[in-house]
Amino acid sequence: MTEFELIQTYFQRGAHGPSVVVGNGDDAAVVSPTPGHQTVISVDSVVAGRHVPTLCPPEGFASRLLGRGLSDLAAMAATPRYVLLSLTLPSFDAGWVDQFAEKFHHLAVQWGVDLIGGDTTRGPLSGQVTVIGEVPEGQAVTRKGARPGDRLWLLGQDLGGARAYLEVLSGSVAEHVIWAERYWRPEPLLDLGQALRGQTHAMIDVSDGLCQDVGHLLQGAAQPLHVEIDLDSLPLADGLIARFGRERALEMALTGGDDYVLLAAAPPDRSFDAGHCIGRFEASETPRISLDGQPVPADWSLGWDHSR
Ligand code: ADP
Ligand code: MG
Repeated sequence: MTEFELIQTYFQRGAHGPSVVVGNGDDAAVVSPTPGHQTVISVDSVVAGRHVPTLCPPEGFASRLLGRGLSDLAAMAATPRYVLLSLTLPSFDAGWVDQFAEKFHHLAVQWGVDLIGGDTTRGPLSGQVTVIGEVPEGQAVTRKGARPGDRLWLLGQDLGGARAYLEVLSGSVAEHVIWAERYWRPEPLLDLGQALRGQTHAMIDVSDGLCQDVGHLLQGAAQPLHVEIDLDSLPLADGLIARFGRERALEMALTGGDDYVLLAAAPPDRSFDAGHCIGRFEASETPRISLDGQPVPADWSLGWDHSR
């Protein structure tokens, strides 16, 4: 299959929403912004051999690529609108691309994004998605803004499952259905993120490990804050403690990453049914995190650094 045929067959499906003036197939896309809204844009990459195994199932590749991309929009409280997909494929293998494209289009519909363009080239497997969303003027929720007295909320399912699945991939533990689900099918918390507009002072999604991402909330605050995390309140993925023991399970949950839950700093009078209150912020001389009153263990690497 040539590049041209592949793009036409799999990535130019024609049907777009009414705000798309020119969809894919032209030199660039043209869209009409919603009046009174601001545009929110982010790009994310998934590289085989680094973020996922070199021999990567097409559906898992599609889910991870779009899921983690859209999680960034969820964390800004944005409504997703459009996506651009840049794909580098080792070969134009119609079987693999067909399954990838099916899954990608299906999820794009489910998560409310219109595929308006992209790029397709040959090379080692990788994908980039540029996601574009909108928020009503001034209502994006950023990482900046946590205050003394705020509570730290975790919204979403649980922690550590994607990290535990790395042990499955490396062959050191047995297959586990829920960990596989967390690793291959991250669910961006789009409705939750939007519901938090005006409810929280700051928000971030957990992609690099909870401790590291809480660190970003501390960095973004206007004054130095101490955040005390209550370990018993952390929702851990199924089977984590049973398989790895409490200490290792907590390390995985707090440093593993790829959880795609949302962390929010909210005033103490707020409460969220879909969430767990896992800690509190207070004024401090220097920014710091403690876990049940203890500092973060020095031998923990604070989170996943994709450039390692
Ligand atoms: P150009 O040479 O102008 O960059 P391309 O041949 O790369 O054009 O792409 C042709 C059209 O197909 C463009 O509108 C582009 O946005 C779209 N396209 C290419 N690859 C993809 C893809 N993976 N997903 C969606 N649209 C794509
Ligand atoms: Mg191109």
